[in-house]
Amino acid sequence: MLDSDDIGRRRREPAKRAARDEIDMNDRGPVRMKPPKFDYHAPDTVREAVAVLADVGDSAVVLSGGQSLIPMLNLRLARPTDVVDLGAIDGLANLEPVDGGLEIGAMVTHRQMETNDLVASITPLAQHAAGFIGHRAIRNRGTIGGSIAHADPAAEWPAVLLALDGTITLASAETTRTVPGDQFFEALFTTAKRPDELITSVYLSGRFQNSWGFSEFQRRTGDFATVAVAVGCVIATGAVVEARIALAGVAERPVRCPDAEQALIGTRPGRAVDAAIAARDSFEPVGDCHGSTEFRKRLVFAETKRAVTQALGPDLESRANA
Ligand SMILES: Cc1cc2nc3c(=O)[nH]c(=O)nc-3n(C[C@H](O)[C@H](O)[C@H](O)COP(=O)(O)OP(=O)(O)OC[C@H]3O[C@@H](n4cnc5c(N)ncnc54)[C@H](O)[C@@H]3O)c2cc1C
Repeated sequence: MLDSDDIGRRRREPAKRAARDEIDMNDRGPVRMKPPKFDYHAPDTVREAVAVLADVGDSAVVLSGGQSLIPMLNLRLARPTDVVDLGAIDGLANLEPVDGGLEIGAMVTHRQMETNDLVASITPLAQHAAGFIGHRAIRNRGTIGGSIAHADPAAEWPAVLLALDGTITLASAETTRTVPGDQFFEALFTTAKRPDELITSVYLSGRFQNSWGFSEFQRRTGDFATVAVAVGCVIATGAVVEARIALAGVAERPVRCPDAEQALIGTRPGRAVDAAIAARDSFEPVGDCHGSTEFRKRLVFAETKRAVTQALGPDLESRANA
């Protein structure tokens, strides 16, 4: 049992320790680094950044918005020897219309995607989905390149990228290459990106701008999606001629659902329900503390139906792509 003197002594301890260590108790700045030690690089150009990656090898990591990496460092889930901060590199946060679509610099933040007029007009699905990512503070810092490199299977951007037939441009010291989204996401938090590469930009097609849908279930505002569905369609003379349906939260990576896409092609009635049934029957999501397999399958049905209904609307003609 502690007596009141003991308690008083214990309360005074931190102040005594602070005096001994000459720490200013009113200084709210960081007293100690929580992450493991690493060498910090702040290159001015992509060329310098990839030179560091080539030099150090796979014990280096790239830092963008830090919204996933910093927690991983602080929890010691990542122990890189070197951190390459992309924050000082000019030109990585540009948004540019290219060939009817949108080229998006890797450092463009979720918030820019949510508020930018070009995004709203060329890729409205992306603009809409951005608002579902975390909280405003996360969206202010987190970047599209960081999210795609991180490849969380419940994240919005990977699913949007698949639905909008996106590609990813990667730079290394040797070369630059562009990988289709369909080939980029390989497994849980695993992509086709090599350790010596960084993502410089992402391209999203503009051909789905008149017919798109997005729906997600999150337990609380700001949570990752339990299930999210992104839909992009191309419509000609009142019929769906191309459909892309991508889901987050149903597998170890973001996935498209060919059976649900096929259900949308043509002009048959009831296609939203057909697509939703096909999506539900295509996946066996692993149950966890956020929802059982059965619950997630029901969500797949409901969210797919909502997203497809939004994409097709009551009047297909009015959405015909030019
Ligand atoms: C509380 C909270 C809630 C969140 N909710 C959501 C959510 O609902 N939906 C969602 O999608 N995300 C969510 N996030 C994650 C957030 O979107 C992050 O922004 C995103 O996952 C990573 O982007 P970043 O720019 O912060 O990358 P960082 O954290 O800097 O990096 C993440 C990883 O990607 C690598 N990387 C970063 N940039 C590049 C690049 N250009 N090239 C190569 N590799 C790179 C890093 O090395 C690291 O491994 C949440 C995060 C928090 C903290």
